[in-house]
Amino acid sequence: MIDVFVSLGSNLGNKKKNIEKAVKKIGAIENTKIEKISSLVKTKPHQAPGPNYLNGVIKIATTLSAEKLLDSLKKIETELGRKRSFKNAPRTIDLDILLYGNKKIKTKNLIVPHPKLKIRDFFKKSLLEIEPNLKLV
Ligand code: AMP
Repeated sequence: MIDVFVSLGSNLGNKKKNIEKAVKKIGAIENTKIEKISSLVKTKPHQAPGPNYLNGVIKIATTLSAEKLLDSLKKIETELGRKRSFKNAPRTIDLDILLYGNKKIKTKNLIVPHPKLKIRDFFKKSLLEIEPNLKLV
């Protein structure tokens, strides 16, 4: 099992419900279990106008590869009605892999640690809330 941190964000519809539904679906991914859930925080949208976000971070344990996990997360985004209309458009749910164990990944589809980890305040705050000993270098 590898420990993975996933961020959840919603700025459309019932944001809290969207996040709760996503957590439930993530918990139902094969060989994956939810270990910790951060509190949810309101944030302003970045790089685009639009409604505020509700954001949280979860810690999961999985045997899936990072690519397979990303596929499952994208499927959940689609199931929850996310439409990819334009870059940074409001979304019912946005799921990102922040950390995948201590692996560094750089492929066409996936960059881990997440490139915005250092610049989005809530990523760091929420990660440290659920994993106070996490080393964010
Ligand atoms: P977004 O619009 O924020 O959902 O991001 C769109 C694309 O970012 C996805 O299709 C992914 O292939 C890519 N991506 C790169 N790195 C990551 C990551 N760490 N977590 C999630 N998506 C990622």
